[in-house]
Amino acid sequence: MPQEYLLPASIEECLHMLAVYPGGRIIAGGTDLMLDLREGRKEAKALIDITRIGELKRISADKDRISIGAAVTHAEVAASELIRQRLPALAAAAGAVGSPQVRNVGTLGGNIVNAQPAADTAVALVALGARAVIVSAAGERQVAVEDLYAGVGRSQVDASKEILTKFIIDLWGAGDASAFARLARRRTLSLPVLNVAVRVKLKEGRCTRARVCLAPVVPRPLPCQEAASVLIGQPPTEEVIARAAAAAKQAAHPRDSLLRGPANYRKDMVEVLLKRALREAFGLPAEEDGHQGQTV
Ligand SMILES: Cc1cc2nc3c(=O)[nH]c(=O)nc-3n(C[C@H](O)[C@H](O)[C@H](O)COP(=O)(O)OP(=O)(O)OC[C@H]3O[C@@H](n4cnc5c(N)ncnc54)[C@H](O)[C@@H]3O)c2cc1C
Repeated sequence: MPQEYLLPASIEECLHMLAVYPGGRIIAGGTDLMLDLREGRKEAKALIDITRIGELKRISADKDRISIGAAVTHAEVAASELIRQRLPALAAAAGAVGSPQVRNVGTLGGNIVNAQPAADTAVALVALGARAVIVSAAGERQVAVEDLYAGVGRSQVDASKEILTKFIIDLWGAGDASAFARLARRRTLSLPVLNVAVRVKLKEGRCTRARVCLAPVVPRPLPCQEAASVLIGQPPTEEVIARAAAAAKQAAHPRDSLLRGPANYRKDMVEVLLKRALREAFGLPAEEDGHQGQTV
């Protein structure tokens, strides 16, 4: 177990600590890392706690984009009026994570670096087209969230050498809407069986931009271009939604899972969830689709 617990006050100090403590690793809320250390899945000689770095705790906006610090907690994202108004898919995803206790300490950055394909906020961030800003001794780089995955539980961010500092989400202007839908056995403390998020832009009665993300149907959150392409240029009708949802079902390749259920069931439910999310994003009434299961 770690011998040192360090509390840097700035990103520079954090990078310095990562350099001088070999075997050091970043910790944020610790909801994933403490379990990984206890079970021996990860090792760290020193834990470097980033939750006192003010810059990583900030949510800000200008007219073109919203920026969210990596150490902002799920509870803070879910409660933020700015996020609820401008990026409702992310507010809903953050509000669906775990339980109040987990949401009060678990962070957006930790959810992404932990690299689980069904991480709730990852699915929303991918649909929103978010870029992650990563800082190391070598400098700064920006990477699309979907490109941070190196495999299940393996991130391109090396938490022993670099810090994910924030997420940047470009605003799409008037008609920008998004939604998140999740299927789980219970509303709290239950792994998502499936989760989907969508972002659309409506202009003069047509969808001019669209992004769709599905999970867990491959080992990372899956941006679904097939479904997005169906939407672009079309009016927000039930017929168009049905075609996009059918395309998403076709593109999804979930595995049979003891925890999450059979592949065929989950493939069918991708279609159902995507219809629900698209109706919400387009401002259409929810339809009784006859399927059981808790969704947000
Ligand atoms: C009971 C329970 C229920 C849960 N339910 C859900 C759920 O429903 N949905 C869901 O998506 N998740 C769930 N989780 C998982 C977990 O809470 C989230 O993944 C959480 O967001 C992790 O954030 P954290 O701040 O606690 O990360 P930590 O545990 O502190 O860190 C996780 C990993 O990320 C690295 N890291 C953290 N921040 C950074 C950074 N800024 N830069 C570089 N590396 C970093 C750490 O080194 C570590 O490897 C649950 C966990 C528990 C214990």
